Amino acid sequence: MYISTRGGVAPVTASKAIYQGLAPDGGLFVPETVPSVSKDFVAKLADLSYRDLAKEIFSLYLDDFTKEEIYKVVTSAYGDNFDDREIAPLHGLDCSRYILELWHGPTAAFKDMALQALPYLLTTSMAKQEPDKEVVILVATSGDTGKAALEGFSDVDKTRIIVFYPNGGVSEVQRLQMVTTTGNNTSVIAVEGNFDDCQNGVKAIFNDGNFAEKLEEKGYRLSSANSINWGRLLPQIVYYFKAYGALVKRGAIQAGETMDVVVPTGNFGNILAAYYGKAMGLPIGKLICASNKNKVLTDVLNTGEYNRNREFFRTVSPSMDILISSNFERFVFEMNGRDSRSVCDLFDALTKDGVYHLDEATAKRMSEIMCGYYVDEEATLETIGKTYQENHYLIDTHTAVAVNALGQYRAAGNSEKVTVIDSTANPYKFNQAVYEAINQSGAADKMNEFEISAALEQQTGVKIHRGLLDLDQKEVLHKKVVEKENMQSAVAEILGV
Ligand SMILES: *Cc1c(COP(=O)(O)O)cnc(C)c1O
Repeated sequence: MYISTRGGVAPVTASKAIYQGLAPDGGLFVPETVPSVSKDFVAKLADLSYRDLAKEIFSLYLDDFTKEEIYKVVTSAYGDNFDDREIAPLHGLDCSRYILELWHGPTAAFKDMALQALPYLLTTSMAKQEPDKEVVILVATSGDTGKAALEGFSDVDKTRIIVFYPNGGVSEVQRLQMVTTTGNNTSVIAVEGNFDDCQNGVKAIFNDGNFAEKLEEKGYRLSSANSINWGRLLPQIVYYFKAYGALVKRGAIQAGETMDVVVPTGNFGNILAAYYGKAMGLPIGKLICASNKNKVLTDVLNTGEYNRNREFFRTVSPSMDILISSNFERFVFEMNGRDSRSVCDLFDALTKDGVYHLDEATAKRMSEIMCGYYVDEEATLETIGKTYQENHYLIDTHTAVAVNALGQYRAAGNSEKVTVIDSTANPYKFNQAVYEAINQSGAADKMNEFEISAALEQQTGVKIHRGLLDLDQKEVLHKKVVEKENMQSAVAEILGV
C-alpha cells in the first residue's frame, strides 16, 4: 500500500497511487514499507536481462497488478524502441568510473527510461480504477519532457496526449522533435507566451471543476505525466540494479561490495530512485547529488537550509535549472523518520516563505547517505573537453556536471571507490555546447543545429542518435498556435466537448 508524505490520506493500492498521481492532501505517495531484496538476488543480478529485472522490481512494488499485467508493461516499455539491447549500457571511463548511459530511448534523454513505461502503468491502473474512462494527459513543456511524454503515449490505447510549448521558447531541434510526432492520439500546440504561461494554462484547466465534469460526461479523465507520479519513479529504480549487475559481470566489483553513485539532479527523481534501491538492499555506498549553478540542493545538503529565494540562472544544462525540487519532499520524509507532521510544516513554509530548515537529526541522517556538489558553467564545459581528450568519450552538459562533481568529491579526500555516473542525455541533444567545449567558444557561431551535429559527428566519429536524425526532413504534423487565453478551448476542440 502507499501512503502520503503529508499523512492526510488512508493507504491506497499501487494502482490508485499511480492513477491519482499527487495525493489528495497535496503530498507525494511513498510505499508504506520499502520492499527488500535478498543477498542471493543481488548476487544473481548479472544474469538478468533488463526486462526480467524490471519484472522483478515492479512485482515488489505493484501488489495489485497481476504477473501478466507486469509482463505486458515491461515488454511494451523496453524493446526495439531503445537502440541498445542492454537498454541502459555501462561504459567504463577508467577502472573506477563507469558511465550509465540512460539515453538510448527514442528521444535521446533519460526521461524515456520512465516515460516509456508510465503509459502502460497508468492505463493498467486506470483499468482497475475506472475501466470505462479514457485518460487525457496534459503537459506543459520547456522542451524535453514534452517529446518524451509524446513518444511514451503515442498510439497507446485509451490515452490521448496534448502538449503545450512556448512558441519561440524551445530550441529548433526540440520543436522539430515535437511537431513531427506521429500517433493518432497526439496533439502538440504552440502557445503565444512563455513556459510559465503554458504551465499556468495547464494548471487552470486542471483546476476548472466545470470543465472536468464536462469531460467526465464524455468519458475522459484528465491526468499528468509529471515526475512526482510514483509510476515515473518506480521504473528508475530498475537501472541501478542493472548497473550493479553489469559491474559484477565485468569484474569491476565483487557481488556484495558497494558502489557509489553520482547523479546530475534537478527535480530529484533520478537520485531518489537510487536511494530507494539502496533502501531495498542494493549495495550502494554514497549518493552524490550534482547540481549546476542553480544549487538549492547543494546548499540544503550542506547547511540544512532549503531556500528558493534566490536568483534563477539559465545554464548550459537546462534540464537541471530548477529551484523547487519536487521529489526532495519524499527524501525529507524518509530521513526524518517518516514524520508527516514535520513534512507539512516544512513544505507549508516553503510555499509561504520560500524557505525551510531541516532539524539537526534529519540533516545528519541525510549527510550520512548523500552529499552535494555544484558545478559552474565554465567547469561544465571544461569537463566535456577533458573527458573527450583524456578518456575519448563524448558527454553532454548534464553528464559533465556529474563527472565534475565526482572529481570534487574525490579531491575532498574521499576514496576512489567504483562509481556509477548517470549520463542523462546524449551529447547530440546539447550539440552546440558540446561542440564548442571540444573546440573553442564561438566555434558554432555561424552554424545551425543540423550543421553542428554533422560537424560533431565528422570530428568525433560518434554517431548521431537516431532520435535526432533527419528531423529537418520529417513532415510537420502539428501546426496549431493558440493565444494563452485559449488553451482550454483548444483542448475542448480536440476532444470534441
Ligand atoms: C530531467 C533531467 C535531469 C534531472 O533529473 P531529475 O530526476 O529531475 O533530478 C537531468 N538531466 C537531464 C538531461 C534531464 O532531462
